[in-house]
Amino acid sequence: MIDFLKKLFSSEGKEKDFVCGMNVDVKTARYKSSYKDKLYYFCSEHCKNQFDDNPEQFVK
Ligand SMILES: [Zn+2]
Repeated sequence: MIDFLKKLFSSEGKEKDFVCGMNVDVKTARYKSSYKDKLYYFCSEHCKNQFDDNPEQFVK
């Protein structure tokens, strides 16, 4: 329950774009990639391509 509340109030349905650092709204995100069973969201095709080229550079 506490985890649920934390999620609700801290992220508000947003995920971080690991390439440029901005928050991406999950509901409207058009660019996403899955890497090691996790889904990553991006603000633009440019960021997604950079991530796809070298995901390990961004995921640590
Ligand atoms: Zn971006």
